[in-house]
This record gives sequence, C-alpha cells and structure tokens, in this order.
Amino acid sequence: MRVNKIIPYGRQSIDELDILEINKVLNSDWLTQGPVVTHFEQALSEYCSAAYAVACTNATAALYVACLALGITVNDIVWTSPNTFLSSANCARFCGAQIDFVDIDEKTYNLCPDKLEAKLLTAEKLDKLPKIIIPVHFAGQSCDMKKIHQLAKKFNFHIIEDASHAIGATYLDKRIGCCQYSDITIFSFHPVKIITTGEGGAALTNSKEIAEKIRLYITHGMTRDSKKMENPSNDLWYYEQIELGFNYRITDIHCALGLSQLKKIDTFIRKRHELVARYNEGLKYLPLTLPYQHPDTYSSFHLYVICLMAEYKNKTRAQLFNELRQANIGVNVHYIPVHTQPYYKKFGFQWGDFPVSEDYYHRTITLPLYPGLSYEQQDTIISIIKNILT
Ligand SMILES: *Cc1c(COP(=O)(O)O)cnc(C)c1O
Repeated sequence: MRVNKIIPYGRQSIDELDILEINKVLNSDWLTQGPVVTHFEQALSEYCSAAYAVACTNATAALYVACLALGITVNDIVWTSPNTFLSSANCARFCGAQIDFVDIDEKTYNLCPDKLEAKLLTAEKLDKLPKIIIPVHFAGQSCDMKKIHQLAKKFNFHIIEDASHAIGATYLDKRIGCCQYSDITIFSFHPVKIITTGEGGAALTNSKEIAEKIRLYITHGMTRDSKKMENPSNDLWYYEQIELGFNYRITDIHCALGLSQLKKIDTFIRKRHELVARYNEGLKYLPLTLPYQHPDTYSSFHLYVICLMAEYKNKTRAQLFNELRQANIGVNVHYIPVHTQPYYKKFGFQWGDFPVSEDYYHRTITLPLYPGLSYEQQDTIISIIKNILT
C-alpha cells in the first residue's frame, strides 16, 4: 500500500479568508510597521490573557531577545530539555551563556520536575545554579509549570516557556501564554505549528519592563521614548540607540495572516483532537506507546508521536520509519536529543548523559497530524502501520 502524494507530518491550513486579509494589507499604506502588527499583538495578548505580546520574525529570535531581556550574559547558565528543537538551547549560546539540560519524564516527554529539583540541589552546592530554565511544552502538552515555578522561587531562576508547539493549549484551565508560572512565553508561527504567519514568533509577558526591553531588542536597540533617553529632545526626528539591538520586526503582511489564523485556532485544535482520538483508536492494539495526556493539560497536539515498545523486537524504529517513507507517509522524528549534536558535544556532552531522552528518541516516530488531514488519508496511514507491525 502506498499513497500517491506524500502526506507530510504537518502543514498549514490556509483558506480564502486568510488570502483576503493578506490582500488587504498589500493594498494598504503599510507593508510593515503598520497597524496590523499591533492588532495581532493585541489579539494574542487577549487570547492568552497576558498583559503584553510582542510579535517578531520567528520564535528563535523571540527566545534570544527573551534571554537578553532577562539579562543573560556569558557568566550565566541556562537549562532546557534535550527533547526539543535546537533553538531552545541555541538562544542561550547566542548570549554566550553556558547551557545544560534536564532529562525528560518517561510519560509526557517533557522536562522532568523531579530531575530538575535533584539537579538544582547539586548545582546549589557547586554554586552553579542556572539563571533561566526553558521548559518546552513538547507536542503541545504543558510541562508541570506549578512545580517548576515553585523551584524557581526556591532557587531564584527565571522561566521562559518555549511554547512553540503549544499556542491554544491549556494548563490547569488557563491558556499557555498567560505567564502565570513564568516570566515570558514564546510562540512560533512556522507553517507546521498550530497557526502560521509564514515565518513568525511572539513573546508574551505580564511585565511591562520585560516587554519594553524585548521591543527594544527587536528594533535595533533604538527608542523614541524621551523617558528612556540619555539626552531627551523635543526634536521630532530624534531617537537614541540605548542598547545593541537587531531588526527582528515582523511585517503587517505576516500579521494579517496571523490575525486571520488566530480566529480559527480553536477549530484547528478541535480537529487535531478528533484526529488524535482516531489514531488512538486505530493503533491501540499495536506494540506502540501512544501519547500520554496528563489530566492538568489540554494539548494543542502539534505532534502525534508513537513510541515502539521496548520489548518489541520484530522491527526497528528505522525499519518502520523507512517503510512508512516508502509508502509516501512523511513521518519524522522529534527530536534528536540536542546534547548529542556535534556543536553541543564540543562542550563535553555525550550519549548517555540524558538516558530517558535518548531511549525515547531511539524508539519514536511522528505521524502526520494537521487540520487538513482527511479521515481517508488517516485510515490509510493506520492500515499501513498495522501491516508493517503485524
Ligand atoms: C519550531 C520551534 C522553534 C523555532 O521556531 P521558529 O519560529 O522556526 O524560529 C523553537 N522551539 C521549538 C520547540 C520549536 O518547535
């Protein structure tokens, strides 16, 4: 069995309304730095119940400026999960900070709060406590933020939630992005994520000071706010550069798409849940561990990850993966543990350092999941997997 056209693991859902909204911007006075960026930011902060939202070029840039806004320098240490995309760790390295990892929980695949606590106690004795922890809401399911937040108070670190997978998800009935248990939350609007702007990202916070710093860093470090200037002036052309910043601005074109997508987000996520229920049903008697859902969370289901049971020896993960790819099913793997990347090995990390992440990685495959995936396509995927595994 083979499908004619490759079914990707994730893809955007664009409709006529999205195109209409983009066209409106193209016919307007501003392509960038116009009113639509502000509208999108307001809509994001409202949707998530956060005081401030700053949109920018992508989540990688947002993670970086979030670290800068929290004052990360070469003297600091940042910890994140090994089971994430490179950016969650790279953002600390951009600042010259030292990076370390905390292994994941066997069930949720999220940063494990117990391992975090144990590692903090050791780090305290060595006087090597991290300044920031970056929990990643893997596949769209929230980390145990209450516990991580308690530890933050005890060990005095900041929290940046990498919620690139998790816009629209909830934790204890509040939306991810409300920053109840963190300083800053980051979203990605890459086309495979829950909603898209093409490229795009955002940082949400309840701190005015942090929001202003982030805004400064994404616009060259320049300000037109006389209260922030060294030599305030009434001259209308006057601005001052008070920090070393970047051009990480997003455009009105991107944000028009973002605004239009945000209107459909809950429908998108409901559709993802429907498809997840069908996968769970169709795959339940196979030698697979299916996604565990913690009762405190409502996932946005960015990813549907299956994990070959350790006891199952008839086929390797690579065999299953290759056979699915041969059948034109665009499966993927999330994630190669970040500490095993050649760049990070240079700092002394090696295979064996974070065994749960590594064992998970060796047995896992991400199946196609996105709102436009049809039941028919999904049934074909399920049949193909059944054929391979039984
Ligand atoms: C996609 C992703 C990013 C990076 O997002 P961009 O918007 O592409 O920069 C960062 N962290 C995680 C966990 C992601 O999945």
